[in-house]
Amino acid sequence: MRIIVTGGAGFIGSNFVRMLLNEHPEHEVTVLDALTYAGNLASLEDLQSIPRFRFVHGDICDAPLVDSLAAKADAIVHFAAESHVDRSISDPGIFVQTNVQGTLTLLEAAKKHKLTRFVHVSTDEVYGSLGPTGLFTEETPIAPNSPYSASKASSDLMARAYHETFGLPVMITRCSNNYGPYQFPEKLIPFFIASLLDGASVPVYGDGLNVRDWLHVEDHCQAISLVLHRGVPGEVYNIGGNNERTNLAITQLLIEKLGRDERAIKYVQDRPGHDRRYAIDASKITRELGWKPKYTFETGIAQTIEWYLANRDWWEPLRSRGLDSKRAAANQVSAK
Ligand code: NAD
Repeated sequence: MRIIVTGGAGFIGSNFVRMLLNEHPEHEVTVLDALTYAGNLASLEDLQSIPRFRFVHGDICDAPLVDSLAAKADAIVHFAAESHVDRSISDPGIFVQTNVQGTLTLLEAAKKHKLTRFVHVSTDEVYGSLGPTGLFTEETPIAPNSPYSASKASSDLMARAYHETFGLPVMITRCSNNYGPYQFPEKLIPFFIASLLDGASVPVYGDGLNVRDWLHVEDHCQAISLVLHRGVPGEVYNIGGNNERTNLAITQLLIEKLGRDERAIKYVQDRPGHDRRYAIDASKITRELGWKPKYTFETGIAQTIEWYLANRDWWEPLRSRGLDSKRAAANQVSAK
């Protein structure tokens, strides 16, 4: 297949492209990425010499560009998005532009050129917040609470409508929090690793008891690959690690692994609209497509810490680019 991967210079997209090229010699991959603050060509450096790989610098909202790429493609795997909840609170407009308008532009081009697969990569955040018990299933009603999750939910509905109305072979995936190599160091785990390595404190929102279900990025990528190759058009697939942890527990684990102590924790005012708990029921993708995560949280976090220790030259230059430097001053941090 000739596959367009949007947002392939971002965290999950770059891991996905690496996996796809390594495991599927039959595929050609074109990354379309605008290289926003979150995109980084250095995350694709080791792939540049592969003849089946091509990078196109461009915006998913650029209809003529998207059209010309789709004319020579069989499939789209759509990661490109504004993805940071804190940024969506301070600047929601760009979230609607990229996440909704950009998705619509891709769907239109996919329809026009009769692409055979369209994987829309979404998030568990579209389901809103859970109480202390229960899990999100694919039937859980959509109830987003942040401008980020609202824009993702809107794009999910548009993707669904293109399947229902035009028969476009769209599959939607909704995954829990990812961690692993190449994650921009404004997100919780890499931000905390970098701060703790630098001897700085780590800011924890509210009481630190917000719960997230953590999955290693490579396990997410394997799930997306299964959906790309074997998913049923029109279906939604939840993806999650069955690894519920409070933000405080994650913080304490990182503190222990990096040889610091609890004095490194600084409690800060909670984020507005902060969802209390997310937890995913991933039994559908397990049952229907045979997906199983490779990492436990313990093996995954150990691999991730090792990667950040060995790749300071990748993340250090990024720290001044993102919110983390500003946020460190404002004492805020997010889980996603
Ligand atoms: P990221 O912010 O690391 O990467 C986003 C990429 O999209 C960047 O390379 C950026 O340059 C690119 N991009 C942004 N706007 C663009 C535009 N207009 N045109 C072209 N490219 C553009 O995000 P991520 O964490 O890798 O997430 C990827 C996808 O997975 C998103 O759709 C997100 O909603 C979803 N998701 C993320 C998580 C998570 O924990 N990170 C969990 C579930 C789902």
